[in-house]
Amino acid sequence: MTHVFHRHLRQTPPVAVSSHGMFIRDAEGREYLDASGGAAVSSLGHAHPEVMAAMHAQIDKLAYAHTSFFTSEVAEQLADELIGSAPEGMSHVYLVSGGSEAVESALKMARQYFVEIGQPQRTHFIARRQSYHGNTLGALAVGGNAWRREPFAPILVPATHVSPCYPYREQRVDESAEQYGLRLAAELEAAILAQGADRVIAFVAETVGGATAGVLTPVPGYFKAVRAVCDKYGVLLILDEVMCGMGRTGSLHACEQEGVVPDLMTVAKGLGGGYQPVGAVLAQRRIVEAMSKGSGFFQHGHTYLGHPMACAAALAVQQVIRRDGLVAKVREDGIAFGAMLAEALGAHPHVGDIRGRGFFWGIELVADRASKTPFDPALKVNATVKKDAMSRGLLCYPFGGTVDGRQGDHVLLAPPFIATRQDLQEIAARLA
Ligand code: PMP
Repeated sequence: MTHVFHRHLRQTPPVAVSSHGMFIRDAEGREYLDASGGAAVSSLGHAHPEVMAAMHAQIDKLAYAHTSFFTSEVAEQLADELIGSAPEGMSHVYLVSGGSEAVESALKMARQYFVEIGQPQRTHFIARRQSYHGNTLGALAVGGNAWRREPFAPILVPATHVSPCYPYREQRVDESAEQYGLRLAAELEAAILAQGADRVIAFVAETVGGATAGVLTPVPGYFKAVRAVCDKYGVLLILDEVMCGMGRTGSLHACEQEGVVPDLMTVAKGLGGGYQPVGAVLAQRRIVEAMSKGSGFFQHGHTYLGHPMACAAALAVQQVIRRDGLVAKVREDGIAFGAMLAEALGAHPHVGDIRGRGFFWGIELVADRASKTPFDPALKVNATVKKDAMSRGLLCYPFGGTVDGRQGDHVLLAPPFIATRQDLQEIAARLA
């Protein structure tokens, strides 16, 4: 009998007892190859000696100091590290404890910015279907899975959802990728105008869509067109890189590959690599300056903001990634990984699409390849894949998203950056 409130109330998962490198071991002595880094979290794998040493050193020095009294050396160092490599114009980092907290903080920062600059009529967010931004109420409101929002719909902040960038399902045969991107940007513009051009706070999007739709890579030019639409109406662009950021797609920030700079950007997961719960909002100077000249106070906060242990872990993870050139490794090995997946799974009758970048790959499973028909949700294909993979000692991250109101099945692969080519080959083989 378990007293832990597990997500699936009628099932208790295996008990994890130890982890090392690419592997997690359970209480029965079974070893699992971690092909998903949890949920795109463990960027350096498990039990990395330098991260552990940095955490030990930090706890010996300072374990906790509330941010209403103090900043800490390690929080300042982490912010310097993040701003040193941030997109142009970013000047400040708001350090929180995870992805949902980062998104929630970004939404409130965006709203407060408009209140401070005398545009309090901006009350609406626009986001995308097939997206995930977290489970707290604000993050849930902008998230694009209607079934997740449904029970809470009456108590959510106002948000409209437009089409995601999902070429496999939504690009027409008679349009180029570029035309498709422009069509999506026009849809965003129409959604802004439908709310009233001066009523929208921000457009919120994952730069590369994550778990909910099995990795959605944007078509070239899409985000540039989105940025132009946002600028035309003074709408902020919030990019959620909680899952796709911090090196995962082969550039430190996924938006670098799109040639756009967001107003606010959220990161988490790979930031601390799983060693501590940590997330951050990176903010443009003009937003922080407007708030600083205005009330001078962000009306938000959490007890564990800038937690020294979390900052020490994140700082060590990011320093190792930079020193060891792991982002370039992910970019290069990611191309090879894509080829391995195509070779092992490309001809499978139920694999509809394989897409991704770096160490961030999605495999879309379909009942019929020709018609792209998803499996009947009652079959719970994603749950079967997860169970079957675990029985073969493989941790991947299958998910049932919504396709045209039905469940579609995807498998997400997000191995640690330390994975060797042999590890990647093993992942492709076990999954196949
Ligand atoms: N945004 C994105 C893009 C995510 O993938 C997630 C988590 N899957 C979140 C936000 C929420 O992060 P957390 O689970 O740490 O609250």
